[in-house]
Amino acid sequence: KKILIVGGVAGGATAAARLRRLSEEDEIILFERDEYISFANCGLPYYIGNVITDRQKLLVQTVEGMSKRFNLDIRNFSEVIGIDPAAKTVEVKNHQTDQVYTETYDKLILSPGAKPIAPPIPGLAEAENVLTLRNIPDTDKIKAIVDTGKVGRAVVIGGGFIGVEMAENLQELGINVTLVEKMNQVLKPLDFEMAQLVHQEINANCVNLILEDGVDHFQKQGTEVALESGMVLQADLVILAIGVVPENGLAKNARLKCGPRGHIVTTANYEVINDETDAVYPDVFAIGDAIEVQDFVTKNQTAIPLAWPANRQGRVVADYINDIQTRNVGIQGTAVAKVFSKTIASTGNNAAQLDMKKIPYQVVMAHRANHAGYYPNSTNIALKLLYDPQSLQILGAQAVGQDGTEKRIDVIATAMKTGATVLDLQDFELCYAPPFSSAKDPVNVLGYIAS
Ligand code: FAD
Repeated sequence: KKILIVGGVAGGATAAARLRRLSEEDEIILFERDEYISFANCGLPYYIGNVITDRQKLLVQTVEGMSKRFNLDIRNFSEVIGIDPAAKTVEVKNHQTDQVYTETYDKLILSPGAKPIAPPIPGLAEAENVLTLRNIPDTDKIKAIVDTGKVGRAVVIGGGFIGVEMAENLQELGINVTLVEKMNQVLKPLDFEMAQLVHQEINANCVNLILEDGVDHFQKQGTEVALESGMVLQADLVILAIGVVPENGLAKNARLKCGPRGHIVTTANYEVINDETDAVYPDVFAIGDAIEVQDFVTKNQTAIPLAWPANRQGRVVADYINDIQTRNVGIQGTAVAKVFSKTIASTGNNAAQLDMKKIPYQVVMAHRANHAGYYPNSTNIALKLLYDPQSLQILGAQAVGQDGTEKRIDVIATAMKTGATVLDLQDFELCYAPPFSSAKDPVNVLGYIAS
């Protein structure tokens, strides 16, 4: 088989490696528009913050290394600019030579990802210090500005994962950071009262947190950020992190079906769909941030731009192409972030999401020590769990704490995927010794409270 892959980072590189492991014979060509493949997107804020000091470490695989190791034809600086699903061809533009050529395929996998939203905010075009963060070139740009040592004040716009991580990393460099968020809380996967703990941590670390305000325009070449409230913030550097949109240009041009927010619609096997006829293209697949997925809890269509789904889908598609039985049970959106000394973790739906979908739920909350109180340095974990009052199925959970916080959410996420109820949590026999937990783990406690 001849298999083409569009996009060489999380989903694309995973699919390529798995395809090769499953077949020595297939011809596999990986196209990446940019220079780098398989880099550590998730590590970028920490490289800017000098936590990761070696730039090389961000490059998980190089074009040369991965080509050799997996016997792949990897073409970077190569943008796929057209798909003809009927003829089973793609058109490719080599950005180094400007040459455009056609490549045929038996199977095509699209993993083009999502790009930062950059709305036409007045003054943005003239503002060279207003940057977004997605890839290595973006990182190099931000780091070059930071490394001049002339950034005294930075403004981060958007309190999602990337915004919060950037605020922390810039603040840790000694920069005076303001974080601006349009909603009344940061980190949307958390319910309001859980987010208060994060706000406290952000404030305690001297980041100036402004909620319920947004950028109106940039002035003085971006060195001033004028907010909707009329407040004007001085900024040597601005990070615009207000979310991402799917890279769907290629899909739209090829008339592939896209959802209401532009994500590529797929079958459960990740095959794409003809927008005009609703017919499935059985040899074209789409994965990663660009696609719509099914919410594991509500079964609604949603989009979850995280690394785990992209990786998983890359592997599943490679298996499917090689006639290995696969399954798609939907995505929970399990996520974790570090905010200074705190760990914030969540899985499934929160109350705000369930309210919106009018799904009934019961709540249990617990504030428990992460390990035995008599063992030094125990810290508190705030846990919130939501479950279906009828079936007792777990609908979601959130936690804010320090050591061991994400472990509790991982256990609950696993419980959810395997169909355990909130009462089953009582019976989970989890690791215990004083430095790690208590004989009654916080996860057990949630089950006890619900019983
Ligand atoms: P990507 O990894 O974005 O790869 C898509 C690639 O396709 C891009 O390199 C793009 O250049 C290329 N491409 C697009 N169109 C074409 C075309 N037409 N031709 C050729 N190439 C094309 N997720 C987590 O779960 N945890 C984290 O901590 C986390 N931190 C993050 C931090 C940052 C700063 C960023 C930007 C993302 C982070 N993510 C995190 C999200 C995670 O990186 C993505 O969910 C994941 O990379 C998605 O994989 P993908 O393959 O869909 O897209």
